[in-house]
Amino acid sequence: PSAMREVAVDVPNVSWSDIGGLEAVKLKLKQAVEWPLRHPEAFARMGIQPPRGVLLYGPPGCSKTTIAKALATESGLNFLAIKGPELMSKYVGESEQAVREIFRKARTVAPAIIFFDELDALAVERGSSSGAGGVADRVLAQLLTEMDGIEQLRDVTIVAATNRPDRIDKALLRPGRIDRLLYVPLPDAATRREILSLQLRAMPVSPELDLEALVLQTDAYSGAEIVAVCREAALLALEEDIQADRVLQRHFTRALSSVTPRLPQASRRLY
Ligand code: ATP
Repeated sequence: PSAMREVAVDVPNVSWSDIGGLEAVKLKLKQAVEWPLRHPEAFARMGIQPPRGVLLYGPPGCSKTTIAKALATESGLNFLAIKGPELMSKYVGESEQAVREIFRKARTVAPAIIFFDELDALAVERGSSSGAGGVADRVLAQLLTEMDGIEQLRDVTIVAATNRPDRIDKALLRPGRIDRLLYVPLPDAATRREILSLQLRAMPVSPELDLEALVLQTDAYSGAEIVAVCREAALLALEEDIQADRVLQRHFTRALSSVTPRLPQASRRLY
């Protein structure tokens, strides 16, 4: 029986313009995935192998998943999304077959992207998990086999995401496998300004609202946390008056004190 019958193949409905900032990451990802598909002859001419896979890494909530979806939409590629922990738990005893099935399906719908979210759950460094020789090792071995097998198949590209690049088995990151690493950082001021503007496009706010102050006050916030601040500010306005038709500066000020950056200083150094 096919363990992965429910793996959805789709073209997600997310575009580059839904993602504030991160222009360098978007460009590099496009190059890594679209060039080999569009211009295979250019790589042949230069005598180099195109990248097989890209790893997006960085702190949580900074749009790694969203970027992968936008890439699929904008490049018109089919998209198979797999969550690492889900593959390990949902398909107990069938995790390796599930990996095989994902690649098989990708080949049939190529050109396609296989997106492994939370890759660290699938590809933990050998020996670092309890079950050496257990299911984790077998899943990793299967992943490596499949990745080596797509050598001749230019039109399946792997995109993976993780918050814990340090946990991923190095064999998976060797040349010819997931060999492009792209860091997706916490948003800088320009990116925060864009994320806020995207949020405030749909939200009626006071004309006196000081956007630049919000940009400064959200230093160290992830994109997801900035979205949460905006939502919280609107809820506070409604809490005061369910008829409210705009969100004021003070609502944002209060929201900023209740939604605080999750990532402690210490773990930020990890990236
Ligand atoms: P995790 O590692 O927790 O899975 P992630 O890095 O994959 O997080 P996403 O799930 O893609 O992050 O992003 C979380 C949410 O944060 C998005 O749905 C979006 O609302 C918001 N967000 C984060 N960064 C941005 C950004 N640069 N522009 C617009 N929205 C953003």
